[in-house]
Amino acid sequence: MWMATTSAAARTLLRRFDHWATPALAAVALGVFLLETVRPLRRRTRPRPERWLRNVGVGAPSLLAMRLTLLPIMTKLAQAGAARGVGLAQLPEPLRAVAELLLLDYLAYRWHRLLHSPLLWRLHRVHHIDLDMDLTTAWRFHFGEMLASIPYRGGLPALLGVRPATVLAYEAVLEACTAFHHSNACLPIGLERRVVPVLVTPRMHGIHHSIVEQEAGSNFGVGLTLWDRLHSTLRLNVPQQQVTIGVPAYATAAEQSVRQLLALPLAPLRPWTRPDGSVPYRPGLSAPAHELAE
Ligand SMILES: [Zn+2]
Repeated sequence: MWMATTSAAARTLLRRFDHWATPALAAVALGVFLLETVRPLRRRTRPRPERWLRNVGVGAPSLLAMRLTLLPIMTKLAQAGAARGVGLAQLPEPLRAVAELLLLDYLAYRWHRLLHSPLLWRLHRVHHIDLDMDLTTAWRFHFGEMLASIPYRGGLPALLGVRPATVLAYEAVLEACTAFHHSNACLPIGLERRVVPVLVTPRMHGIHHSIVEQEAGSNFGVGLTLWDRLHSTLRLNVPQQQVTIGVPAYATAAEQSVRQLLALPLAPLRPWTRPDGSVPYRPGLSAPAHELAE
């Protein structure tokens, strides 16, 4: 009886998510698309249609995996955790809601750092070897990355007492932030400098997609920049015109068909070098700095 009630409540929450989040995220995507079309930030190296077809081809199964497995499991586990009154359930409102959102954003930061560890990099490199970065890079995740995230992204919020409605609300925020910071939109530098002390921006995340290893090892934040600041992984002092997007060992578009990208997690890892063995290096690469370069 309890299970049936839980499932019905979870279905209601998910239907509400579909009803509100889907059109809202479509509107965010349209806005981002228009911005990056009118005012691009970095010069493209590949034709747009080539990458778009590939990224949608890789992203579609990932989107399905998210909606059909990750979201329902996250919701049901969070319901079970909330019913037991664990963790954050002890806090009064509105402190509880704020703590839940901060915790979810911190967990997203930690998960992104885990994705750069050797085992999960097998999956996450599918996202990083994109040769340019724009809105569609935000969709280009291997479906295996979605499935692999279920124990962490479903289990930890539930154990810590985050309510299912907050889990789903944060998921919509995360998707909107991901679309925004992967975009190739050139915001006025003055505006972006005012935003970046709080939120992850396109220039900041562009540095994370650099072929220079120290730069790819920076800026793991998803929503807030706070976590990179606290863990000394924030790096803002790299001008975008000097950023080459990608991973050096995967420098050619010829090995990035949808079929090849879907099979990539099974292929051996490659060292962080170009095919000719050279290591991307930025002369004068200094310690991470917190002043956003143009
Ligand atoms: Zn990454």
